[in-house]
Amino acid sequence: MADCIFCKIVDGSIPSKKVYEDERMVAFYDLEPQAPVHVLAIPKLHIGSADEVNESNAGEIGHIFSKIPEIAKSLGLENGYRIVTNCGQHGCQSVMHMHFHILGGAQLCGRMV
Ligand code: AMP
Repeated sequence: MADCIFCKIVDGSIPSKKVYEDERMVAFYDLEPQAPVHVLAIPKLHIGSADEVNESNAGEIGHIFSKIPEIAKSLGLENGYRIVTNCGQHGCQSVMHMHFHILGGAQLCGRMV
């Protein structure tokens, strides 16, 4: 989608530090990390937010979740991690391309993204 920064990360026109990529998703380091390890996992398909998930695109989200354990392992998050998705204005979503924050590398209780 034009003017979507995460679509531009998908097509390579905006650089990112990727940790995982396949035909359906990309995972890359967040520019402003909120934890020692902070990666964003996104579908290549433009889905605006969790509020736009439906029967026809839910497979992209399932695919991301099927890969998160492998990504977390590659990041050394063997003691656990947090997965967060912010949705819409009240959810403080700032990039309108659905993404999952994967946060770890420290005890995160009491911290929110
Ligand atoms: P949210 O506020 O939940 O929409 O999260 C958006 C996240 O995207 C924030 O944590 C930003 O730091 C991150 N972000 C924005 N632009 C980039 C970028 N070009 N590369 C990596 N992370 C980004």
